[in-house]
Amino acid sequence: MTTKPSRHIRRAAQVEAEVHVPVAIVGGGACGLTAALMLSDAGVDCVVLERDALPSGSTALSSGFIPAPGTRTQREHGVHDDSAKRFAADIQAKAHGRAAPALVEAYAESIGPALDALQERHGLQWMLLDGFLYPGHSVHRMHSLPQKTGASLMAALQAAVEAAGIPVLTQAMVDTLVLDAEDRVIGIDYARPDGSRESLSCDALLLACNGFGCNAEMVRTLLPEMAEAAFGGHDSHDGSAILWGESLGARLRDLGGYQGHGS
Ligand SMILES: Cc1cc2nc3c(=O)[nH]c(=O)nc-3n(C[C@H](O)[C@H](O)[C@H](O)COP(=O)(O)OP(=O)(O)OC[C@H]3O[C@@H](n4cnc5c(N)ncnc54)[C@H](O)[C@@H]3O)c2cc1C
Repeated sequence: MTTKPSRHIRRAAQVEAEVHVPVAIVGGGACGLTAALMLSDAGVDCVVLERDALPSGSTALSSGFIPAPGTRTQREHGVHDDSAKRFAADIQAKAHGRAAPALVEAYAESIGPALDALQERHGLQWMLLDGFLYPGHSVHRMHSLPQKTGASLMAALQAAVEAAGIPVLTQAMVDTLVLDAEDRVIGIDYARPDGSRESLSCDALLLACNGFGCNAEMVRTLLPEMAEAAFGGHDSHDGSAILWGESLGARLRDLGGYQGHGS
């Protein structure tokens, strides 16, 4: 599938909107819902905007297996010798040392505490997949919910978000960021299925709308050897987050990696 995003940025001194939120999150997959839960735990109000009627994303298509070091679940299974440092070393070994160190460090350090928080504060009961060692892992660190599916991970995150009283606005396709004169994001505009348009004013924006797998032009540029490959992820991955970020001056790193699935 080829999707060409029509993503916009507009300037305004203020956003005409009925609702103001401290944080607006675009995308209700694992990233958006987990971020919403962590913000809520920290006492920060947020709203999740999701284009589909029922959030699923690539998360629901996935196996829902999550590699994480130093977790409570690992310790309960007798794995005491894992750490963010060891995970980062495993990642770099697999990537032949070419992954951006700051990003590897950030992911390796964040994911263990995130899984612990989801377990301790939001009831997601992880198990450790210790039947075999995943390629490149020097220790058992793959976690999953007992059902071992991405759909069950989405269901558990949605239940947690609902229990926490976090609003998830579905059928809201965000297509425009609103910036003030200092280039600060002060709001977003989104389209409803009937063609009507709404806006939300915010202090901060979190783009959790995943990657660029179904944007053929971006795949050709960033992953030329995959230009003709079939994309197996969710059909919303049109590169919007990256294109918006780039047009706001963000630098791009580590976009040349991909995973081939035998299935
Ligand atoms: C077949 C398969 C198997 C996989 N297995 C694993 C695995 O076992 N372990 C692993 O770690 N990873 C796996 N992955 C990768 C993993 O699924 C993804 O990296 C992860 O789910 C991404 O989560 P996310 O929240 O960033 O994106 P998503 O789950 O895709 O969520 C993004 C959400 O944003 C919404 N959205 C997009 N654009 C807009 C917009 N403009 N406005 C509003 N909403 C929007 C989408 O509808 C979607 O709901 C697998 C992927 C696939 C396809």
